[in-house]
Amino acid sequence: AIKAQSSPDDGYVPDSKFYKVEAILRPWRIPQVSSALLKMGIRGVTVSDVRGFGAQGGSAERHGGSEFLEDKFVAEVKMEIVVSKDQVEAVIEMIIKEARTGEIGDGKIFLVPVSDVIRIRTGERGEKAERMTGGRYDMFSASSLP
Ligand code: ATP
Ligand code: GLN
Repeated sequence: AIKAQSSPDDGYVPDSKFYKVEAILRPWRIPQVSSALLKMGIRGVTVSDVRGFGAQGGSAERHGGSEFLEDKFVAEVKMEIVVSKDQVEAVIEMIIKEARTGEIGDGKIFLVPVSDVIRIRTGERGEKAERMTGGRYDMFSASSLP
């Protein structure tokens, strides 16, 4: 099985309290990925239907001109998950585990630092806004035990 390297090569990831894990995935893998995330206490997820091309969508078939691969875009799903720093690696590993087939076209994950999270209803910011009731933090914190 493939895992994400346990930590990135020194120093290129900007430090942040929160990160957005942005994954471009095969649409038919989404149910599996999202139920695995839910089981690990990830409750906030945004998905969008998108179209893209990458290794699977063929520069090989490009014929010089500017009529550029219009019909070569492949349907993908973009999944965006904002989590605290300490949850990033677990989320990335789970996405790889559940999304990977090993064939070209499995997709990519982008990691983006997030400066702040604001809950519109309450005006809360930072940790208070990022944490969700019954979320992963609750699952692992003593205060959530009976
Ligand atoms: P409340 O004000 O009680 O938090 P709400 O309905 O305003 O409730 P949520 O339902 O928690 O807020 O979130 C609204 C939408 O924001 C979700 O449907 C989801 O698309 C997105 N979202 C929330 N949290 C995250 C997150 N951590 N990562 C990615 N998307 C999120
Ligand atoms: N970090 C949040 C928590 O532990 C969960 C964030 C999310 O579900 N995307 O409650």
